[in-house]
Amino acid sequence: MTQIVLAVHGGAGNLTRKQLEYPGRRGYERGLADALRSGQRVLLKGGSALNAVTEAIVILEDNDLFNAGKGAVLCADGSIELSAAIMKGNDRTAGAMVGLKRTKNPIRAARSIMGHAHSLLFGVGADDYAQSKGLDMVPADYFSTPFRRRQWQKLKSKSNAVLDHSDDQAATGTVGAVARDRRGNLATATSTGGMVNQTPGRIGDTPIIGAGSWADNNTCAISATGTGEAFARNVFARRVADLVEIGGLAPLAAAERTLDDIRRDKGVGGCILVDAQGGLALPFNTPHMFRGWLVGDAPPQVAILADEQISID
Ligand code: ASP
Repeated sequence: MTQIVLAVHGGAGNLTRKQLEYPGRRGYERGLADALRSGQRVLLKGGSALNAVTEAIVILEDNDLFNAGKGAVLCADGSIELSAAIMKGNDRTAGAMVGLKRTKNPIRAARSIMGHAHSLLFGVGADDYAQSKGLDMVPADYFSTPFRRRQWQKLKSKSNAVLDHSDDQAATGTVGAVARDRRGNLATATSTGGMVNQTPGRIGDTPIIGAGSWADNNTCAISATGTGEAFARNVFARRVADLVEIGGLAPLAAAERTLDDIRRDKGVGGCILVDAQGGLALPFNTPHMFRGWLVGDAPPQVAILADEQISID
């Protein structure tokens, strides 16, 4: 039996040590640790990597500190558009949804279309499909929080779209999870509200399979976060996997090299990755990335700034 491995991220950005002082940062640490514990419960019972990443992401979507599900960032017109993608590594089936406005947990919507003839739905059709699968629907104001409205008001006047966590006060982000289960299967899941003040209708990297997410049992499972346009143009996650499989690079080296390409394209961000042997990599080219991981039944580890590792019991 293989060792179970799970990692999560909550977005990358420019937060400094000063902005991440206690007690403010405690909520993010708890949020990441709760998500890890939820996925760990699934994996320790012999559940699949796919179920583990789904349950970990649901916890983060329900936590309004993160830019996914409840607490997602606002578009330029004040609306909220949610996207998510999920993929499993044994058969490379995937599902993704773009521009959800009513589905409480976008990751469950993405999951609900796996194995269907289509793998990516957008807008009204995406919400309707999720509803037809019996998923929880909520009114649009369920997702919006006072913090996100203030953040949007502040950025609206500047008329540009930014990563939610590149604004001083906006210490939150897109969420992702990768896992390896006892059978050695890999899976990845990513969920986001996109970028603050984005033009309604924008599609970033998160729901694009191969850009924000990729999973293949032969190589690795990856979930990315950062400037979506650069990650999508570089087909980030698939490129990392190809550099491992075809280029023969170690996973961390493959991810760092692809992050260099992102930086060349003026993009910033990072990713979490678990490989077929259970190795973990969590590289990023920003001052911080909310991240956490665990192996077997060990307690979750969480970290935010580049030089940190904290054990949460
Ligand atoms: N990649 C996401 C997007 O561009 C944003 C993020 O990762 O925070 O929509």
